[in-house]
Amino acid sequence: MANALFSAPVPLNEPVKGYAPGSPERIELKRELQQQNSAPVDVPLVIAGKHRRGETTAPIIIPHRHSQHLGVAHQAAAKDVGDAIHSAVTTQKSWSRLPWEERAAVFLKAADLLCGKYRQVMNAATMLGQSKTCYQAEIDAACELADFWRFNVAFLTEIYQDQPLSAAGAWNRSAYRGLEGFVFAVTPFNFTSIALNLATAPALMGTTVVWKPGPTSMLSSWVGMQILEEAGLPPGVVNMIGGDPTIIGPIALQHRDLAGVHFTGSTGVFNQMWQTIGQNIGSYRTYPRIVGETGGKDFVFAHPSADVPALVTALVRGAFEYQGQKCSAASRAYIPRSLWRQVEERLVAEVNKISVGDPEDFTNFMGAVIDARAFQRLKQAIEQAKQDSGVRLLVGGECDDRVGYFIKPTVLVADRPDYRTMTTELFGPVLTIYVYEDDQLERTLEICDQTSPYALTGAIFARDRAVIHQMTEALVNAAGNFYINDKPTGAVVGQQPFGGARSSGTNDKAGSKLNLLRWTSQRTIKETFAPALHFDYPFMAAP
Ligand code: NAD
Repeated sequence: MANALFSAPVPLNEPVKGYAPGSPERIELKRELQQQNSAPVDVPLVIAGKHRRGETTAPIIIPHRHSQHLGVAHQAAAKDVGDAIHSAVTTQKSWSRLPWEERAAVFLKAADLLCGKYRQVMNAATMLGQSKTCYQAEIDAACELADFWRFNVAFLTEIYQDQPLSAAGAWNRSAYRGLEGFVFAVTPFNFTSIALNLATAPALMGTTVVWKPGPTSMLSSWVGMQILEEAGLPPGVVNMIGGDPTIIGPIALQHRDLAGVHFTGSTGVFNQMWQTIGQNIGSYRTYPRIVGETGGKDFVFAHPSADVPALVTALVRGAFEYQGQKCSAASRAYIPRSLWRQVEERLVAEVNKISVGDPEDFTNFMGAVIDARAFQRLKQAIEQAKQDSGVRLLVGGECDDRVGYFIKPTVLVADRPDYRTMTTELFGPVLTIYVYEDDQLERTLEICDQTSPYALTGAIFARDRAVIHQMTEALVNAAGNFYINDKPTGAVVGQQPFGGARSSGTNDKAGSKLNLLRWTSQRTIKETFAPALHFDYPFMAAP
């Protein structure tokens, strides 16, 4: 028994390494890439701490060299899903009753392991499995994940410290219980850090988890799972099951012990999950907490007072880093007529400098899109735009899947602000621009606010303070993460809590204590020191 009120270590954002030629991190990463390229992996199901083989497997494909398989991922059958749920539910009691510092220590240690001996293992897995450049892997799989694990511990203590007042004669206390049952974490391919955070944030709060990673991020998910095991995560707290979502989803979502869903991915899938829960609402032990961060149609809106080089840099980085496959990626832009000629010239010149190819060649700025399905979807949208009237291909437009799923950074210019690629999420390296007349600022702000169902991220560029205020107000509900004179991507844990509203999600802000609050259920305890001894009150006395 500790008999102490421990405080959490003060979290600091993990410094980003540079990977310059000759640097030790670059040498180590290259070595690790070689190693992972030559040693096929066998990613198991992890149920109750046991590594289990599935009845079937799926290949792990390198998106930028799709003829090469990195190994296989075992696929869960219905029985495995049932076992994973059973494992989570039966572990919940002992896990939630561990003192919080014991739970927290697991994740603090995991962060240190990740930033130490696993850093390049994780970065290489993310580069190979998800086609990220070394820099994109570093800011995601190493730094952001370590930040989630460290900052969440500090946020937990902030939550636990929140206690009620007590009047004379009584002591009121708030206890923060883990959720009874299990949380179903369903994660996307595009951020290793998001995947691991979705699986572990509920666990930190004393809840247990069945985790279904994205099928195209199994390699990095497996590295994350191994780090957690080495950090001392007890068996059954996080049960990782890859496989067909149409098998896993219905079993988990209709289970009586479903205590919550922690989802990031597309809006359509999230809506379907919510519908399933709605249809079964009378059958759960407790109302499931539903947290989902979903799609986006993120904008950059420039005013005539904008700084053009800063604007163009934000467009290029915001739209094309990680092949535009960030939920926050800029995919539509509004540029005033008076700036258009300068922006157009500079943008075309910059985009033409971008090299697309194998991320293992560190001179490349972009890799491949994630899989054949994404490649076909994007190619089709680009081909359609080439044929449509009222839209012009400014730069890019080439798609080549002979070796990997490569799509050149593409900029379209649409005559109408409601052209399809201005309104729907494509999730790839395609930016569409609408040029507005300078005297139509107010109307164009309204259009920007109303043309997409999403409200995830957005950026404005202006130097006029009154205009910055006007734009910020006009777009108040258009983005959950709003940037002034900066690109709309690159949120940092502890600095820009992340999430959007409208069709972009429940805005429970990953990387903040608001998210953790969803994974705990408060129990209020009132203890009275001098209980009443009679039921009657003074007003009842005879006059
Ligand atoms: P996706 O929706 O295709 O898949 C997400 C997860 O859901 C995967 O694990 C997938 O296997 C699973 N899934 C698919 N169908 C399912 C079903 N019927 N039942 C249960 N699970 C199911 O998304 P993705 O391609 O992995 O990621 C891209 C999407 O994620 C984009 O829309 C992007 O905007 C969004 N995203 C949003 C955020 C955010 O914070 N808002 C962050 C990252 C990605």
